[in-house]
Amino acid sequence: MEESIIIEKVAVLTEEITGPKKAKKESKVDINPYEMAKRQIDIVAKEMGLDDNIKKYLQRVERCLIVSIPILMDNGKLEMFEGYRVHHSTIRGPGKGGIRYAPNVTLDEVKALATWMTLKCSLLNLPLGGAKGGVCVDPTRLSRTELEKITRRFTSEILNIIGPDIDIPAPDVNTNPQIMAWIMDTYSMNKGRSIPGVVTGKPIEIGGSVGRESATGMGLYYILDALCNRENLDLESQKVVVQGFGNVGGTIAKILFDKGVKIIAISDISGGLYNKDGLDIKSLLEWRDNKHLLKDYDNDNYVYISNDDVLEIKCDILIPAALENQIHKANADNIECKIILEGANGPTTPEADEILQNKGIIVVPDILANAGGVCVSYFEYIQDIHSYFWKLDRINQELKNIMVNTFEEVYNLAIEKNLTLRIAAYIISISRLEKAIELRGIFP
Ligand code: NAD
Repeated sequence: MEESIIIEKVAVLTEEITGPKKAKKESKVDINPYEMAKRQIDIVAKEMGLDDNIKKYLQRVERCLIVSIPILMDNGKLEMFEGYRVHHSTIRGPGKGGIRYAPNVTLDEVKALATWMTLKCSLLNLPLGGAKGGVCVDPTRLSRTELEKITRRFTSEILNIIGPDIDIPAPDVNTNPQIMAWIMDTYSMNKGRSIPGVVTGKPIEIGGSVGRESATGMGLYYILDALCNRENLDLESQKVVVQGFGNVGGTIAKILFDKGVKIIAISDISGGLYNKDGLDIKSLLEWRDNKHLLKDYDNDNYVYISNDDVLEIKCDILIPAALENQIHKANADNIECKIILEGANGPTTPEADEILQNKGIIVVPDILANAGGVCVSYFEYIQDIHSYFWKLDRINQELKNIMVNTFEEVYNLAIEKNLTLRIAAYIISISRLEKAIELRGIFP
């Protein structure tokens, strides 16, 4: 077939799946996540009449450390990497937040993620603050030895600002329990004793918690179920699209698939797969776990679709579970669903929020939707301190209680004051932070 005919055919097919597109006016690459986080605080501050001093306080991070990570690569050459650890706020407890490995991580991205962690922990009323870390590296290019070296050197460089009473890292994009084990070991070797509480998301054998790996996905499910109840929607008959097929996207897709919900599209960094009758998530997870990308999955009934188009597929529930800034001014108008459940942190810009609200789409904000991860991280931290480990039933029950109670608090406030769920969640979270700042006072 001629190339022009193929391109035309793909365009027609894409339009069939996603509907006619409105012109894109702006590129998502222009959006700075930290500016976006500060803008979100501005919007809520205006809505709730927040004291200017408190707003000023929340729109700065407490500290950030930029470190160089020299690594002697397997080929004998030295490569320099850059890493960051940011504490946004420790006003309500030690910092808490993941570490991500990605080639395009920036300090502003990490600052934004740390800010959202403060807001998330406060919303759940956990005695924790907000922090985040990142290393500019493409981990797929590294051998296991190089990955371990980077992790251990990065941990050594940030050693003085992490610890069970200071700041407790966890997994995020491209980091996993093995990497947490190396962090825990490096920290412990430096301190001369085993300190499992320095990090969460560890393997169970060295002080990790059952249920931590699936916690963010489980939390998303509890929230979605509670929302469907309040909105009189039958969850099983909803059609779902998921962007991202890692820890968060993969887990929520599996939970929903096991419950008989149709996942009509899912994507990873290579793009996505679509089938109007639903995808076989179990087989796709096996494919992923054997280190394959979705673009290489061979099934004549599945249509390959780009990551941008995945977001614009007509569906009932859209779950962005990859990165920030995915739903922005340029594509928000093309999104056709009833609910957006934010698995990722910061996937929707404030401009897109406004467009989605006008379209009547319910957006469940990240600081509520994906808070299951930090919630079970908190359980892991408590278990480490007490050296007493809970069973999975208890983890999931306590997780469900916290997630559903928080959801109800947010949903009720949104209904009562006619607010979006994001504004309601931010008001609850920021009010708690405001009280803590007032009680502690400004030192000196
Ligand atoms: P992960 O590394 O396990 O998975 C990330 C997924 O996104 C992969 O499938 C990857 O291929 C895909 N991806 C990467 N770049 C992409 C791109 N440009 N376009 C489309 N897809 C892309 O990471 P994760 O832990 O699942 O985290 C995903 C999101 O959820 C992040 O925003 C993270 O901050 C957030 N989050 C994670 C947790 C957790 O417990 N892991 C908790 C709360 C929030």
